[in-house]
Amino acid sequence: MPQAIPATLIAGDGIGPEIVEATLLVLDALGAPFAWESQVAGLGGIRAAGDPLPEATLASIRRTRLALKGPLETPSGGGYRSSNVRLREAFHLYANVRPVRTLIPGGRFDKIDLVVVRENLEGLYIGHEHYVRVDDDPHAVAIGTGVNTRAGCRRILEYAFDYALATGRKKVTLVHKANIMKVLTGIFLETGQELYDSTYKGRIVMDTAIVDACAMKLVLNPWQYEVLVTTNLFGDILSDLAAGLVGGLGMTPGANIGTDAAIFEAVHGSAPDIAGRGLANPTALLLAAALMIEHCKRPELAARLRQALHDALNVDQVRRACCPNPDPEANGSVYGQSS
Ligand code: NAD
Repeated sequence: MPQAIPATLIAGDGIGPEIVEATLLVLDALGAPFAWESQVAGLGGIRAAGDPLPEATLASIRRTRLALKGPLETPSGGGYRSSNVRLREAFHLYANVRPVRTLIPGGRFDKIDLVVVRENLEGLYIGHEHYVRVDDDPHAVAIGTGVNTRAGCRRILEYAFDYALATGRKKVTLVHKANIMKVLTGIFLETGQELYDSTYKGRIVMDTAIVDACAMKLVLNPWQYEVLVTTNLFGDILSDLAAGLVGGLGMTPGANIGTDAAIFEAVHGSAPDIAGRGLANPTALLLAAALMIEHCKRPELAARLRQALHDALNVDQVRRACCPNPDPEANGSVYGQSS
């Protein structure tokens, strides 16, 4: 019997505990080799320890270097800084890998198989923002600063090219907005072009796309893309768009890979609108667990988990639409193509 792998488990907020519980049942049945250390973060961290990212949680991930995480709530506007962003910074999780694959054939977009590789530590996400008072309005002007470094661009671009080569992909598309943000995303385009010419030319194809046109092309003809690599904010938006091609946020996993740890999660958030109602789709977190198992070099177990998901969705036809709005056209089914 192989030794159990210590791993941190964060149930998270909103639907987090429900989908984590469902995932653990499946992982137990699979005989997944993890010895879990349960910790809290986000709203759960504040409730249990008065801190959205308690030291005990950080210490656990420092020990295990591996975590499965439910979604964490972040207040919009004011309030505490995102625990997700802080976790990425604390463990230098520079690559956010979000595979998007059709799980239920025959929908509006069939046979989708693309991966969004998102830079996870830089760009407009760094949160350097402030208001400027004018007369009696303290919020008269809002200013935000983005930072992209050549080293950070190079690291994520190398990751994307290597990932594409290792997974048998033929093409990497670099997504930018260097026509307008000539410096902030120009450095990403420039670094990508240099890296491609010096190291990857002849081994793989690279093309480039401006982010707004890329969004349109993803909707018109998503099959033209294999691996999209882009900066933090664009990657966040495009990966949610891509999730919509395969049934919604409940269907897409994410891996946060870094030098000091790897944290696996669903792409979606805490879905407070359906929390506690038994409606949440655990598929995305189950797929995140499959990525985690692969990361731990147990591909045969990951394949069994994916096969079980395929059979549940397509053989047993477990596809209850669970939109808060009963009209799937209005809300999008998170279980697949609104069947
Ligand atoms: P969301 O992803 O939580 O929800 C968007 C829509 O998708 C909602 O209608 C929701 O019901 C639905 N949905 C999401 N996951 C689902 C699932 N598994 N099954 C069924 N339906 C699902 O996005 P939001 O409402 O913008 O954000 C809510 C909170 O989550 C915010 O506090 C946000 O900061 C946080 N968030 C966290 C993460 C993370 O922890 N990685 C990611 C995104 C958002």
